[in-house]
Amino acid sequence: MTHIHTAKQHPVEPVDPVDAVVVGAGFAGLYMLYRLRQLGLKARVFEAGDGVGGTWYWNRYPGARCDVESMQYSYSFSEELQQEWQWSERYPRQEEILRYMNHVADRFDLRSDIQFETRVTAATYHDDSGNWTVRTDRGDAVEARFFISAGGCLSAGRVPDIPGLDRFKGKWYHTGNWPHEEVDFTGQRVGVIGTGSSGIQAIPAIARQASQVVVFQRTPNFSIPAWNRPLPLEDQQAWKADYAEHRTKALSTRSGILYEYGQRAVPEVSEDERQQEYERRWKRGGANFVHAFNDLFINKQSNDSAAEFVRHKIRGTVKDPKVAELLAPTDHAIGTKRICVDTGYYETYNQPHVSLVDLRATPITGIVSNGIRTDAATYELDSIVFATGYDAVTGALDRIDICGLGGKALKEKWTAGPRTYLGIMTSGFPNLFFITGPGSPSILTNVVVAIEQHVDWIARCLQHMQSHSLGVVDAQTAAEDEWVLRVNQVAAGTLFPTTKSWYMGANIPGKPSVFLPFVGGFGNYRVICEEVISNGYKGFAFRPSRQSVSQ
Ligand code: FAD
Ligand code: NAP
Repeated sequence: MTHIHTAKQHPVEPVDPVDAVVVGAGFAGLYMLYRLRQLGLKARVFEAGDGVGGTWYWNRYPGARCDVESMQYSYSFSEELQQEWQWSERYPRQEEILRYMNHVADRFDLRSDIQFETRVTAATYHDDSGNWTVRTDRGDAVEARFFISAGGCLSAGRVPDIPGLDRFKGKWYHTGNWPHEEVDFTGQRVGVIGTGSSGIQAIPAIARQASQVVVFQRTPNFSIPAWNRPLPLEDQQAWKADYAEHRTKALSTRSGILYEYGQRAVPEVSEDERQQEYERRWKRGGANFVHAFNDLFINKQSNDSAAEFVRHKIRGTVKDPKVAELLAPTDHAIGTKRICVDTGYYETYNQPHVSLVDLRATPITGIVSNGIRTDAATYELDSIVFATGYDAVTGALDRIDICGLGGKALKEKWTAGPRTYLGIMTSGFPNLFFITGPGSPSILTNVVVAIEQHVDWIARCLQHMQSHSLGVVDAQTAAEDEWVLRVNQVAAGTLFPTTKSWYMGANIPGKPSVFLPFVGGFGNYRVICEEVISNGYKGFAFRPSRQSVSQ
């Protein structure tokens, strides 16, 4: 597997000790920095990229777009910000989100504490001082009381080990590490490997430029049309009039998004009613579709009815019946892989210059100087786009050598899969916090909502430590064991573990097969986190240290 690293070498600047080091300047890192400053804490953010934005900095591929509506996929912490910012479309484009995040960084004057083009490589906890030493690829070694990971759930890009890539004479790209300069595919023969959310967004956009597009598909995914459209000012104003109320309502939902969550189970309605409901949601567009009935994630038969509806739509859209059959997923329950949201994806296959290669029937045997070879043919290509995904949830952490109490490596502790308490801390690694860590709802939600909830929780914990002169916090092993069990039990009660997905680590050879996020619902999870605080941070152990957290 090829890891994607981009940090360049720079002269080393001395870095003074700080209260907290934060990894990453995406949505999580920016808001964490803002909250740390509010607490009067000195923080240093290290970011591998040369700008803020995280996902939206790296994913500049054609067609990149959010699939949560813009009025919801945005920070809620500043009323002025949410009132003043104007979105132009129902689902924002990558450029627009990146512009928003740059605006946030400037508006709250965050850049001065962010060191760009710097990758954190190692972090070691010292029990005697209660501090971390954090090291970077620029040679920095910073002492910090707290080490906070905001490195992202989908930031560790993955290019599969296909033999011969080094011999390819054309250009190749990974969607998650797209060049900053414009990539013009006009007149080119382009191969795309991967048909997850990234591929499904990129393929129609690439097909608008390229002279030929060859899609290499191993497994088809379910995709729902976005029906994206401009967002009229009046609609935004209406939403903004009740913004606080909308945000509060979203907090108690399963995914932190104001979808219409169906209150009935499939067997409770007639076949006609069921089809009408699916049709209504299809016409409305977006991931709202998979919430049509309340048993779609737990009852395979019910799920089949939704899956069949989408397969029927695919067959009705794609003119070549053989291609339609290849695009219609039959290997997994709909929604148990992240549902895709597209603009003209299935229609793209009706264009004469777009073709689909079924890698199940004819696997790739290698990349050659002029293209991709399967066991049936060689496809001549000028460019290859890898839309092959991420080492999700744990990948960014795994790429840092993190050592906790007694020099124990995090990788060693997590050999059989990540173990956390609430997805926020892992025992034996005091003062290390995860934002949207494994075992939290994270990527099953509107991630910005999950981020704000985690950052606020961490900030409250730090404030508690400040006001009680405490220097060190750790998760208790018993609480962690109980939480890990709960995460697994909740997942086992759903259809999710029946599918080989990145939620299960299944896309990374050798990665333990463990359901990574907490699937019990964001609203429930948030209540649990609140209860932990009201029960005196139940399951966390605090102790003073020679230095307490700065007052
Ligand atoms: P990121 O945005 O991933 O930022 C992490 C940052 O940490 C990166 O900039 C990275 O360079 C940096 N970093 C990592 N490791 C290191 C290190 N060792 N040293 C220094 N820097 C480091 N979520 C949704 O809710 N809705 C969506 O529609 C949606 N669409 C998505 C589309 C794409 C293409 C992808 C990849 C993800 C999408 N997500 C979506 C998930 C998205 O990742 C989150 O919504 C959110 O942007 C995550 O923010 P973050 O700050 O936690 O992580
Ligand atoms: P992904 O969902 O993991 O999809 C990767 C694709 O690459 C799969 O089709 C996979 O096939 C294929 N693949 C991987 N290795 C391969 C190999 N060796 N040979 C052939 N095919 C291979 O990754 P992603 O599309 O980047 O999406 C990741 C996540 O990011 C999404 O699930 C979503 O959470 C987020 N995202 C969201 C949006 C959005 O709409 N807002 C857009 C992009 C990404 P197999 O299934 O057979 O392994």
